[in-house]
Amino acid sequence: MRLSQYFLPIMRENPKEAEIVSHRLMLRSGMIKQSGAGIYSWLPLGLKVLKKIEQVVREEQDRAGAIELLMPTLQSADLWRESGRYDDYGQEMLRITDRHGRDMLYGPTNEEMVTEIARDFIKSYKDLPKTLYHIQWKFRDEIRPRFGIMRGREFLMKDAYSFDLDEAEGRKSYNRMFVAYLRTFERLGVKAIPMAADTGPIGGDQSHEFIILADTGESEVFCHKDLLEQSVPDNVDYSADLEAERERWTTKYAATEEMHDAARFEKEVPEERRVSARGIEVGHIFSFGTKYSEPMNCTVQGKDNKMVSLYGGSYGIGVSRLIGAIIESSHDEDGIIWPAAVTPFDIGLLNLKAGDEQTDAACLDMYQKLAAAGLDVLYDDTGERAGGKFKRMDLIGLPWQIIAGPRSLKEGKVELKNRATGARDELSIEDVLQRFIK
Ligand code: ATP
Ligand code: MG
Repeated sequence: MRLSQYFLPIMRENPKEAEIVSHRLMLRSGMIKQSGAGIYSWLPLGLKVLKKIEQVVREEQDRAGAIELLMPTLQSADLWRESGRYDDYGQEMLRITDRHGRDMLYGPTNEEMVTEIARDFIKSYKDLPKTLYHIQWKFRDEIRPRFGIMRGREFLMKDAYSFDLDEAEGRKSYNRMFVAYLRTFERLGVKAIPMAADTGPIGGDQSHEFIILADTGESEVFCHKDLLEQSVPDNVDYSADLEAERERWTTKYAATEEMHDAARFEKEVPEERRVSARGIEVGHIFSFGTKYSEPMNCTVQGKDNKMVSLYGGSYGIGVSRLIGAIIESSHDEDGIIWPAAVTPFDIGLLNLKAGDEQTDAACLDMYQKLAAAGLDVLYDDTGERAGGKFKRMDLIGLPWQIIAGPRSLKEGKVELKNRATGARDELSIEDVLQRFIK
């Protein structure tokens, strides 16, 4: 993409309304624009990152055996009356009346709707297990939307729902999602720790929140330091028993505020290994058994021909919130530092003398070769001063910058800058191209 033809509305000043760094940097780098309290337009650069995160989430869901579908944002109140949650959910639910006077709502979550789908189509134990997911916008009328897309009212969530014959099978589905979440966050370049959590309005018997540690996080969390130092293997076999992997993450102490037991924490964790910090919740998984299937009469024929209520779980990832969380854990005073997996462009190419025939020709040649090799390059071909170009590229945080000025180009050289380390190397054009084109 040529910057001269792109839409990248950079803000030079710090927006006053932004209290935390991720919100500030997202506004400044032209990723989002607020259109109402907790409601945002996704500008081209922000949308690119959102799509990348969505795709990583999708790939790891698919690998774990979950199946994608898409349910609508608008739901009928009657469905929620079946589970009893229409009255229980409270003011976070945006209630709407259509022209016929029918009560509807903008979905804050989809347990009821997916249970209706399971009820209609899953008839026998032979159809199990099934985990269905979608990546869809949610609306929750948060009392205090803040921190930009981190606590929005409209936000993008991946929500998966598992259906099993009994608790033992349900636990296997839960474990698959548990490990898929660890894989997802690892790929996104962030460290998210599963912590014992409260089940809240979703209800149920077991639950974990996946938390990224950050000073600006909204929850207070406590865990064993070992958990920050371990990682999940990348070649998970989802057809195997994942109980041991789950245990590797759940035997050591980790809990959010609501579930915290100070006495246990002090007893189980040696003082120098105790981490008490703030954290951002990027995922939350629940096992709730028959909480929805029973009142909604979602049953299948069991092995002995008796009808059985399906055993369920639900699993959310805050796709849009993740952008904020990634920026909170990956930035410096000059701007964002994108992990390679989610960066909006792979490389920024800076033409330091646009309009100069030779510089333009050399840059265009590099740009075309990189693009032909499948690399997504943002080519700064604008006539702006070098200082402004450097600042903007650092702000938007692409992992690599190729800096091309007439002086070094004369010797067939450019500079390659690593955004994370700041290291700048003068290399021949061929070497730089070879580095990216495999
Ligand atoms: P929170 O405790 O942050 O309000 P929640 O427990 O209500 O979240 P869940 O129902 O578990 O949220 O939703 C799944 C995921 O969706 C959360 O882990 C979070 O990452 C994301 N999420 C929830 N509410 C919001 C919001 N208002 N804005 C952005 N993302 C959100
Ligand atoms: Mg939650």
